[in-house]
Amino acid sequence: MKAPEKFVFSFGSKISEGNATMKSLLGGKGANLAEMSSLGIPVPPGFTISTEICNLFFEHGEKVPENVKAEILKALAKVESELGRGFADIANPLLVSVRSGARVSMPGMMDTILNLGLNDQTVEGLAKKSQNPRFAWDSYRRFIQMFSNVVLEMNPSLLEVVLEDLKEEKKYKSDAEFTVEDLKYLVQEFKKQVLDQRGIKFPSDPHEQLWSAINAVFKSWNTGRAITYRKLHDIPESWGTAVNIQAMVFGNMGEGSATGVAFTRDPSTGERKFFGEFLPNAQGEDVVAGIRTPQPISKVKTGEESLEEYMPESYQQLVDIYKKLEKHYREMQDIEFTIERGKLWMLQTRTGKRTAFAALRIACEMIEEGLINEKEALLRIAPTSLEQLLHPTLDSKAKKTLLTKGLPASPGAAVGEVVFTSEEAELLKANSKKAILVRIETSPEDISGMVAAQGILTTRGGMTSHAAVVARGMGKCCVAGAGECYVDYNKEELRVNGYLIKKGEIITLDGSTGEVFLGEVKTVEPTPGIHFEKMMKLADKYRKLNVRANADTPLDAKIARNFGAEGIGLCRTEHMFFGPDRIDVVREMILAEDREDRIKALDKLLPMQRSDFVGIFSEMEGKPVTIRFLDPPLHEFLPHSEEEIAALATRLGKDNSKLGARIEALKEFNPMLGHRGCRLAITYPEIYMMQARAIAEAVVLVMKKNIKVIPEIMIPLVATHKELQILRAQVESEVQSVQKEQNTKFDYLVGTMIELPRAAVTAGEIAESADFFSFGTNDLTQTTLGLSRDDAGRFLGSYVNGGILPTDPFVSIDVEGVGVLVKMGVDLGRRSKPNLKVGVCGEHGGDPASIDFFHKVGLNYVSCSPFRVPVARLAAAQAALREVAAQK
Ligand code: ADP
Ligand code: MG
Ligand code: MG
Repeated sequence: MKAPEKFVFSFGSKISEGNATMKSLLGGKGANLAEMSSLGIPVPPGFTISTEICNLFFEHGEKVPENVKAEILKALAKVESELGRGFADIANPLLVSVRSGARVSMPGMMDTILNLGLNDQTVEGLAKKSQNPRFAWDSYRRFIQMFSNVVLEMNPSLLEVVLEDLKEEKKYKSDAEFTVEDLKYLVQEFKKQVLDQRGIKFPSDPHEQLWSAINAVFKSWNTGRAITYRKLHDIPESWGTAVNIQAMVFGNMGEGSATGVAFTRDPSTGERKFFGEFLPNAQGEDVVAGIRTPQPISKVKTGEESLEEYMPESYQQLVDIYKKLEKHYREMQDIEFTIERGKLWMLQTRTGKRTAFAALRIACEMIEEGLINEKEALLRIAPTSLEQLLHPTLDSKAKKTLLTKGLPASPGAAVGEVVFTSEEAELLKANSKKAILVRIETSPEDISGMVAAQGILTTRGGMTSHAAVVARGMGKCCVAGAGECYVDYNKEELRVNGYLIKKGEIITLDGSTGEVFLGEVKTVEPTPGIHFEKMMKLADKYRKLNVRANADTPLDAKIARNFGAEGIGLCRTEHMFFGPDRIDVVREMILAEDREDRIKALDKLLPMQRSDFVGIFSEMEGKPVTIRFLDPPLHEFLPHSEEEIAALATRLGKDNSKLGARIEALKEFNPMLGHRGCRLAITYPEIYMMQARAIAEAVVLVMKKNIKVIPEIMIPLVATHKELQILRAQVESEVQSVQKEQNTKFDYLVGTMIELPRAAVTAGEIAESADFFSFGTNDLTQTTLGLSRDDAGRFLGSYVNGGILPTDPFVSIDVEGVGVLVKMGVDLGRRSKPNLKVGVCGEHGGDPASIDFFHKVGLNYVSCSPFRVPVARLAAAQAALREVAAQK
């Protein structure tokens, strides 16, 4: 690979070689540091080594090429001259931070090193120059800790223990009480530990420190936790990370110095108010790690001193900057800042993560403020995040035992067993149990446990701690900084306000209030709020696809309608067959020895089916309802164990052994490809005829209630045109008889599912007998890939992880394979019948990526589970907007 012309991009008050559009080259952090510099916002000078070097680094056997090194030194010299300090200069040392920064933010994934450039000589220079030896030695001991951890890969607890021991010996309450002598002692002790444990003399040459730190940042691109995060968020390995080298500014210089993080709007509620936390006399990592509990930025009613009161001038400056940033980026920002002896410096700005609830409010309000337009607003909401809003919250009337109250870090309700490690959370999840992960604080190692848990409870850390930020990103309930809790990892117990909770006991979290309750608390259905409604209306304005729901009962139909479903795209009649009051009648029908017996059983089923349809038609008030006729293999309805068979024989008054033999005879080797779908009706026409009659009679009944429905009868698993021709004729004759009997007329449609490759390929002929098509993409995926949905779990993971398949084809449509058949089916079908109505009713109907595809191939509607209807409405709008954008 030919090296790019330029690898290193400087920023600072004098130059800014990058800008916000260069994220793929400079990473998010680097691009935005450059952008802020250009805006005249105070940013400590520095430079960014581009992401292209990350790839070169790995190609070169984990080394930075020499020519790049030369360019780095040149950029470093520019920083030295801007600040009038020298890197490795004993009298007036320049210290830098080495910060990773990928194209998209990967919170906590890559490690940052602060105060690089310190050694036994430069620390003295820093002490003299700053006239603050305590600060200089505090910086030095921090540097050794971070460098040992990140670059020398030492277990961080080894040095932590040295520090804690000293604190205990001296009876100090916090790190702030360390004297210069203490800090000097710690520095010596730390170095000794490094030598003992790693057999390495701690590097004293600042240049050596710099090169190792740069290498370590690049290497961290490939650590296990970075790889896990990338997989979870579909981030390609080839993107690489950039490295930012930036002059240090110090929030730990004592009185008048501070560091903090803030959001330009409230990330939990979306409210338009400046929201953040700071720590006086501290360095940036203290806020993120949650080591000390931070104070609020803006004035609050409670006693805590805010930045607004503590440093009114810096606060005002910060407010001006945040407003400028939000206006410039036209997006809510998450910012990091440090105040060094009264001077404010910005260290980072990026798009702030937020809850789905907040995202909707922010998008709506930004439209009103004229900051963004409707289309931009729609494109900013992740469709799947809407599901968060539809999840239950705690029942305010339920009896509760409050254990404690922490910070409401990420909303929602969670009930589960207390566990103290990520492994245990994953284990419970694997056993279909619910876990609440309880930690003193979380770190990137806990990501997989956080994914597995229902909710997260931490005892330390604020609203911007790792746990809080990551949980919000995941849409997971989190209560952070519950300081009254005492966690004992060894005894695996949690003590709080006189309660002792052992591992495995149940607690409930309310992430919206920060409350923690003993035992399980009842939950209630959510109220997604006015911004949700507004955004859904907007989505409806722009989308082309209709959205229907898969609903089998009047209750499902009702939920679906409340979520905006425009009809039912799939009503599975077999689900009606499983009811306890009818399953035996269904079995009688299946086990019937002859047609006469079967018809007897079907006659009993008829009124039941009819009343089901009346219920659904009434609920849908004239909106289209697609009813799929009986589909599964009959064997699924039969009992299997000997006791069950014997009991059934008694109930039906049949001979036990004869019944057993009949059940045995119905067994199939490969039922998914066996006697099911329309094949049932080819052999037993009575079944579909009963269903057709039930529908027709139901239509007549609801017509009397002044509800006009046009039922859509759907024949499943059609492979040939002939099948459909035969069954359509039967259905029509039955419906016509009902119309004659009742002396009335009504419209109805007969269509088919396209769920076998042969049907897609011969869709032109099939369309001649179909009023509509509905792609059953679950079966179509199964039959196209020759992949059993029920057995694929065991190996599909390896296919997706190994990159053999881009995603699970049952979740997101396999565009290149199944997708081609869908497109072919649509095109052939419409060629023979131009107005053919076409939809999809597989799981894919609620998946945003698949919806984008269905929009492109010109389907009329998607149908999905009721809870995903809002997701589909938004995804459909986004698909339409993206298409328009692409055409421009
Ligand atoms: P992350 O990606 O984990 O946010 P950062 O690179 O932003 O890592 O750095 C971690 C912390 O160190 C942040 O709080 C940041 O503001 C602080 N920091 C980074 N560089 C400097 C610097 N040059 N001077 C002072 N603080 C810094
Ligand atoms: Mg980091
Ligand atoms: Mg940061």
